[in-house]
Amino acid sequence: MIKSYSAIPKKKIIVIGGGFAGIQFIMNLKKDLFDIMLIDKMNHHMFQPLFYQVATAQIEPSSISFPLRNLLRKRKDVRIRLAVVREIDHVNSKIQTSIGEFKYDILVIATGSKTNYFGNDNIKKYSQSLKSTIQSIKIRNLILENFEKILYTEEKESEALFNIVIVGGGPTGVELSGALAEIKRDVLPKDFYRIDFSKLQIILIEGSEHTLNSMSDMAKKASELYLKELGVIIKKGVFVRDYDGNTVTLSNGDTILSKNMIWTAGVTGNTIKGLPEESQTNTNRYKVDRTNKLIGFENIYAIGDISYMETLKYPNGHPQVANVAINQGKNLAFNLKAGLMNKQTREFEYSDKGSMATIGKHKAVVDLPFFSFKGYFAWYIWMFLHLMLILSVRNKLIIFINWAWNYFSKNSSLRLILKKNEAEDK
Ligand SMILES: Cc1cc2nc3c(=O)[nH]c(=O)nc-3n(C[C@H](O)[C@H](O)[C@H](O)COP(=O)(O)OP(=O)(O)OC[C@H]3O[C@@H](n4cnc5c(N)ncnc54)[C@H](O)[C@@H]3O)c2cc1C
Repeated sequence: MIKSYSAIPKKKIIVIGGGFAGIQFIMNLKKDLFDIMLIDKMNHHMFQPLFYQVATAQIEPSSISFPLRNLLRKRKDVRIRLAVVREIDHVNSKIQTSIGEFKYDILVIATGSKTNYFGNDNIKKYSQSLKSTIQSIKIRNLILENFEKILYTEEKESEALFNIVIVGGGPTGVELSGALAEIKRDVLPKDFYRIDFSKLQIILIEGSEHTLNSMSDMAKKASELYLKELGVIIKKGVFVRDYDGNTVTLSNGDTILSKNMIWTAGVTGNTIKGLPEESQTNTNRYKVDRTNKLIGFENIYAIGDISYMETLKYPNGHPQVANVAINQGKNLAFNLKAGLMNKQTREFEYSDKGSMATIGKHKAVVDLPFFSFKGYFAWYIWMFLHLMLILSVRNKLIIFINWAWNYFSKNSSLRLILKKNEAEDK
């Protein structure tokens, strides 16, 4: 019988990705049970649900970014490496990274997902996406810079600068459109008082017949109504076929002039070279069993967005949301500890507490398992729950102060264009 953990030789676990799943896995794995290495290409954990607020200059990127070394500073059993993992050699249990090769006993893949451009290279090249802190800052730069350009651009050429096109009417597209409409109304005219903001069009393009298509009928209808109240133009049942950086071409043949197209129309898994093709779905997710173990492997696991698990409740896999990632991370930590003690492992079961989206001030929708609601109360609930999910008390406080300031003053004063310019020497 095993009496103490220290009597067991420590296995080496490599975790790829310090997102919601990877971080929760490590934090819930009791200290000193394993020899852990966390590898991430970023040195910080990102709170993606609030990227759109960075892109619209409502909060600073630092308030939703958490340095991994600080998050795990009390975990001396965890080594952190800033590197890109390029290949998995499952035969020899090792990985190739941008800083060298590492061997593992257990591999945990928690690499999340990336923007899906559905094979359209033009859209990939010319549009903006919202999947990282840097991309959020790029959108903020682009929008602010284009207003600077409008000031000296001939009127007939400024239409493309005035039109902001958001593709994808899911939560990200809806939240971003609403936030842009609010800064158009309340914030930008204060800075650019010579610009006629009635010319600024925020156009949301959605392929299905509804915004927030995965939510309740109430949420679909309310989100559309709220967006229209804010002045967002919604084009439904139409797809973007192409984009050359100046003209958006739609599937019905219509075109829109725009130098600002933001693509939020889908994600695909961040897979890594080396695992057999049959381990992956056609949406690039790794097929796992109910304990998140990769089908056909004994020592490789996938958790979070990158994993594909079929259950009775979710026969087509789980939604790619933070709560699934967090709970799969926790469950895997429990199971690895149980395995070490020869105890029963636990199958993952997701209990969906509901979903929500905010469209603007006092405008949000909440779907609970048996009840949906909208408006003021939904908006306060949305804010409260997002604040609770933010990792550090300091950042909760900073975001709360920012939100309170914006609420009362309607002015965030965070409109910095942060990029290298021509005047710099190097
Ligand atoms: C704009 C936006 C808004 C969202 N809003 C919500 C919301 O309101 N509610 C909700 O529940 N969900 C939301 N989501 C989804 C949610 O963020 C994801 O489901 C969640 O982040 C998945 O967690 P994860 O740990 O699987 O992946 P991630 O959190 O994406 O973490 C993956 C990590 O892996 C690292 N990585 C990837 N590839 C490599 C590699 N090759 N080498 C090294 N490191 C690598 C990345 O740098 C990253 O740190 C949103 C997503 C986005 C983009």
